[in-house]
Amino acid sequence: MKHLLVTGGAGFIGSNFVHYWFTHHPEDRVVVFDKLTYAGNRANLETLEGDPRLRFVAGDICDAPRVQSLLEEERIDTVVHFAAESHVDRSIVGPEPFIETNIRGTFVLLEASRRYWEDEASDCRFLHVSTDEVYGTLAPEDPPFTETTPYRPNSPYAASKAGSDHLVRAYYHTYGLPVLTTNCSNNYGPYQFPEKLIPLIITRALEGQSLPVYGDGQQVRDWLYVEDHCRGIEAVLERGQLGETYNIGTRNEQRNLETVGLVCDILGSIYPERAEQFRSLITFVTDRPGHDRRYAIDPARIERELDWRPVENFETGLRKTVEWYIENRAWWQALRARQTLTFPSG
Ligand code: NAD
Repeated sequence: MKHLLVTGGAGFIGSNFVHYWFTHHPEDRVVVFDKLTYAGNRANLETLEGDPRLRFVAGDICDAPRVQSLLEEERIDTVVHFAAESHVDRSIVGPEPFIETNIRGTFVLLEASRRYWEDEASDCRFLHVSTDEVYGTLAPEDPPFTETTPYRPNSPYAASKAGSDHLVRAYYHTYGLPVLTTNCSNNYGPYQFPEKLIPLIITRALEGQSLPVYGDGQQVRDWLYVEDHCRGIEAVLERGQLGETYNIGTRNEQRNLETVGLVCDILGSIYPERAEQFRSLITFVTDRPGHDRRYAIDPARIERELDWRPVENFETGLRKTVEWYIENRAWWQALRARQTLTFPSG
């Protein structure tokens, strides 16, 4: 039986991970530690309310004494670190919280784990969830990112995640902390805050609002269904080699404009009477400064070494996602007041 600390477990991927984990490891205990920023949402864990295996603790990963005592009091043997400021556009408007949470917060967690696990058994794990954006941008002819691609972050968000990745690596090499890092491509699926491209487009289309697409819409993203990502994190936790990094992606490169079009087509198949309307809502808006042109992940290592394979393809994953947002209108409508940015991200 494992005792997990899931930081950022009230956010998009973290909450999906908690649901996934209890489905596949019903005997384990999970402590969610989350600051509940605009992106954190207790409702993401509502169906687990009252479950004795889950404890929710509101708090900041930068609060070192709180983190230290939580590890000790809950006898944590596995940290899965999702907590972050995660929205590129917000990092352009105000980078400071990104530096604070993503770099300092990761440092606090690493340091607390090092102190607590110093005398513990060797099967403790610290898994750091990171992004392919640390590698920068690709030209159309470039091969996809591998684990050895040099870091070239372009946004304050990507730079802050790159800084945290380096700290994680250093804690392995300097202190022998049992760390693992995953760098994944853009996720989509249930519970994603509707400022990110796919839920933004679904929710705005449902409401008959314009569908903003940055620049020419030809930016390429490599979309990963969130449950496949959770399965990848599980594989790395269970079978990954300590101190190593694993790229998680599904060889699913899509131009943003095509992704938006596909969402419109799925919506059109569900609401045939509005099929014509959805695509007509697409509106091109001024591009994001320093917008990375293309991300693509080579997942050969996790496939070969850990036998990980995605279950969903883009069609099936996107349809599930669209259906989830249709069935959970109250969830995203309640978040409207927090949607202070209306630009798509990716
Ligand atoms: P999210 O913004 O939906 O959730 C982040 C969560 O962290 C929120 O619940 C928030 O309240 C919490 N949080 C923020 N600052 C905190 C702090 N100081 N202390 C405690 N909790 C704090 O993010 P997400 O999309 O679920 O991303 C999760 C992780 O995955 C991040 O580390 C992100 O960099 C990484 N990632 C995300 C994607 C993606 O497509 N969403 C892709 C690659 C990597």
